[in-house]
Amino acid sequence: MEKCIFCEIANHNLPANIVFEDNDVMAFADINPATKGHLLVIPKRHFINIFDVDDAALNRILQLAKRIARIMPETVGCSGINLFHSAGEVAWQEVMHFHLHIIPRYNRKELQRPFVPHSTDRDELKEIALALNKKIKEGFCNG
Ligand code: 5GP
Ligand code: ZN
Repeated sequence: MEKCIFCEIANHNLPANIVFEDNDVMAFADINPATKGHLLVIPKRHFINIFDVDDAALNRILQLAKRIARIMPETVGCSGINLFHSAGEVAWQEVMHFHLHIIPRYNRKELQRPFVPHSTDRDELKEIALALNKKIKEGFCNG
């Protein structure tokens, strides 16, 4: 099996500019930052993305992302933050080890918005919400 870059970083087999680590999670600088201070937060255990990460790891990742987000303005001078996660090649995921991007924002124009809201059929909105709500009631969302 091909080696996973982020497992290698988590195990200190590849260098990275580490911001924080403990036994379970790590935050480090993205090698090609979208903006100044762009970080990645990962679980040390290998999960691919949101589809398979476990709740304990996800909770730790979000907690760390929140704490780092709060010190970003005073540290790098940003005025906002985007949190970003891609799950699947179709959604632009390139590294197949769960990671949450923390992207400091300095102005509205430095990045393109990744999605453009557009109007759609009201029946479709209702249909999808009902289908998802039905699954949730059946217990498909547990675990
Ligand atoms: P994705 O497109 O999968 O959401 O994002 C992968 C991110 O990982 C990219 O922003 C890319 O710059 C970053 N990246 C890829 N390889 C390395 C690496 O070896 N070291 C670090 N620090 N970041 C990497
Ligand atoms: Zn990995």
